[in-house]
Amino acid sequence: MADTENEREQAADENRREDGVPDSLPECHRRGCTERARFVVLERYQEETGHGAVEAEAVLCREHTTEESPANLDGSYADYVFRVEPLEAAPDGDTA
Ligand SMILES: [Zn+2]
Repeated sequence: MADTENEREQAADENRREDGVPDSLPECHRRGCTERARFVVLERYQEETGHGAVEAEAVLCREHTTEESPANLDGSYADYVFRVEPLEAAPDGDTA
C-alpha cells in the first residue's frame, strides 16, 4: 500500500513541475543542475529550413545564464531576438 501511494505522489509531482510552480522558482533547465532558475533566456531565430521563426526559451540559474550566448546567429533575421529576463523582480536597493 505504501508503495502504491508513493508512486502516485511522484507522478503528481512531475505533472506539477510541467505546469510550473507559481509559488517557487523552477529548477534550472540544464541537465543535472538543481539550482533555482533565475532567468529566462529566449532566442528567436529563423529556422534553416525556412519554416518560420523558432523561439527557444529556457529557464536557467544565474551561473548557467552567464554561459548562455546567441547560438543561432546563422538563423538571424529582422526580428531576431536574444533576450535574458529575470524571473523575479530584484528588490530595490538589495544589490550586494
Ligand atoms: Zn543551472
